[in-house]
Order: sequence, then C-alpha cells, then structure tokens
Amino acid sequence: MKSKVYFASIRALSDHESTTSKIRRLFDAAGFASLFAPREKTAVKLHFGELGNDGFISPVYVRQVVEKIRECGGLPFLTDTNTLYLGSRSNAVEHATTAILHGFDYAVTGAPVIIADGLDGKNVARVAIGKKHFERVAIAGDIQAADSMMVLSHFKGHIASGFGGALKNLGMGCAPPEGKRAQHNARPFTIYERCTGCGKCVRVCPMDAIVVIERSSIDRNLCIGCFECMHACPEQAIDIDWETEIPQFMERMAEYAYGAVKDKPGKVAYMNFLIRITPDCDCFPFSDAPIVPDIGLLASDDPVAIDAASFDLVNQQIGFTDSLLSSHHATGEDKFTGVHVHTDGYHQVRYAEKIGMGYRSYELVKI
Ligand code: SF4
Ligand code: SF4
Repeated sequence: MKSKVYFASIRALSDHESTTSKIRRLFDAAGFASLFAPREKTAVKLHFGELGNDGFISPVYVRQVVEKIRECGGLPFLTDTNTLYLGSRSNAVEHATTAILHGFDYAVTGAPVIIADGLDGKNVARVAIGKKHFERVAIAGDIQAADSMMVLSHFKGHIASGFGGALKNLGMGCAPPEGKRAQHNARPFTIYERCTGCGKCVRVCPMDAIVVIERSSIDRNLCIGCFECMHACPEQAIDIDWETEIPQFMERMAEYAYGAVKDKPGKVAYMNFLIRITPDCDCFPFSDAPIVPDIGLLASDDPVAIDAASFDLVNQQIGFTDSLLSSHHATGEDKFTGVHVHTDGYHQVRYAEKIGMGYRSYELVKI
C-alpha cells in the first residue's frame, strides 16, 4: 500500500509561491481540514529549539497552520515536552520562556504555548501499546488529552537516530522526562587509550555523570544517554556499542511514537519542513551549517511515509562540502550516515512500519 505525501518545493517565482502560501495550500491539498472539527483542542506539536539554536521551524510558518486550524473551528495550542537534561527547556517555566524568546508568542503565532507534561514533567498519561520493548508508554498528559494533533517537524540530522522527523517528534517529543529516559537505553563509555583528560566532556554533561582523574570516567547510574559528551570529545574517546544499542533506541522511539497517536485514529496530520537541514537536532544550543540545500515542505497523514519521503528527498541532493558532511556527498547517498557514520537512521522508518504506524511506500504529489 502507498500513502500520499504532498510536496511543495522551496523554489518561489511569485507571491503565489511564497513559503507561507505553500503551507496553506499544502494543508488544503492534503485534506487536513477534514481532520480538525469545531471546538476540538488541537495540539500543534513542535520543537521550540534550545536557547542558542536557530534551526527550528519559523513561528511565522507556524502561524499559517494555526490560522488554518482556526478556520476549521478548532482550538489550537502550541506544545512540546520538558527535556531530560538541564537546559533551557527542562521545566515548563523556562520552556515557555524559551519559546517566547524564539518568537512563539501569541502575537506572532496566534496560539498559546502549553507545555504538555506540566510544570515539572509530571503530567503523564499511561498508554497501553503491547509492543516488543514496552507494554505501556508514558505520554505527556495534555497531548493525550488533546482531541487532535498537528505535528510540525524540522527534518534534520541526529546523533543517535540518524535523522529526526515526524517519528522522532512523536516518540521523543511527546514523552515526558520519564518516557525519554526509558527510550535512551544506550550508555557511553570512555576509551581510555584515547582520552587526554582535557575535561571537555565534563563541561557539557547535563547530569554531572563524568569525572576526570587523569582520564574520564562515566557513572552509568547518573548518565541519561544524551550523547552530548560524545559530540564534545575532540579525541573520539567516548563511544557506545552502536550495533546493539542504537537500533534498539530507534525501536523504542518508534514504539513511543505509536503510543503518542494510538488514541487519535484519523485525527493527526503531519508536516515536515526540509529547510535548513542541519547535521544535528534542535536540542543543541547552536545550529551548524546545513548539509544539503533547502528542499521544501511535505504534508501527509502518514508519519512513516512522510519521513520516508523526506529521507529520500534529502539523499537526492548533492551534499555541501563545506559542512559537517564528511562523506556521501553524491546524489543518492545517505547524507545522515555521512555525518553520523555508525547510524542507520532509516531503521526507525522500517520499524515504525512493522508495528503498524504507516507505510514506507508513498506517492509524492507535487503542488
Ligand atoms: S551521555 Fe554523556 S553527557 Fe549525556 S548524561 Fe551521559 S555522560 Fe553525561
Ligand atoms: S573530552 Fe574526550 S579526551 Fe577530553 S576528558 Fe573527555 S573523554 Fe577524555
């Protein structure tokens, strides 16, 4: 079976083709109006970006979607969940403040910000899924309580899942801290022969899980598996067991994605933004240069198909040589493996299809 994925190129030669007008046209072409009924509380799930990051979806784009939902009579609110690590989004007060600092203000977007798992991430709903890794998953209470959901995803690279799109936005993004912890099964270790004891890993660890006494050492009980230390180490002296840990991480994430939408059949819509495709996720407090040119926007009611299509469109590009992309620059090569060399990000798509979230086969409908 094939799912339809609607596509608008980033190219624009008239005002009819502005990005804002294309968002509205995509919403119509994909038939999203039929998903949102009057008076329904609609969670617009997005990522407000860690403070210092600027790769997140523009609030000006988000406003277009908010207005379309309002035209359907819906009651949209912008939402995300608190993080596991201590950054600028680890509780609802700082999270909402970060959102406003990044332009997600009512005056700009036309919708309020409600952090879905509450002040300290304790507003949690348990959803029974009966899958391989989890019998039940912990989903943010106000996402579970919403009648419908519009999932807006910035498509970009990710150190553990290869790339992040709709599935990651659902799986990790709709989970409160306890659910995020359950998905982050992998724990890194130090390769002592490579470690110089510079301490850079200590400075980025949000959990104070690393001590350096000549060489670094990681306390597995404190570690939350965020991989910030791996990214920061200049000697590649911190590693994980990629073959066994990472595929399982992606499967756990896909099962959480399944749980986030399980009780909203026919009530969830997806848009992926293939704009400023950075090598790493919006959780980083900075945004590196993109690895491929801007591509455009996608819309679908199938999270598997929209991520499969996004992945293919990225890989059809010629990669930027003056970016973090170290290989796989040619058309057709996996760009995300060119950045995160050990990670087969497509595993999340395969597994999500296997557990019944949608279809990898898609028909790309250009508008
Ligand atoms: S993965 Fe590294 S940075 Fe993250 S909590 Fe564990 S030790 Fe700290
Ligand atoms: S950043 Fe790397 S080299 Fe420096 S102390 Fe940590 S593990 Fe060792």
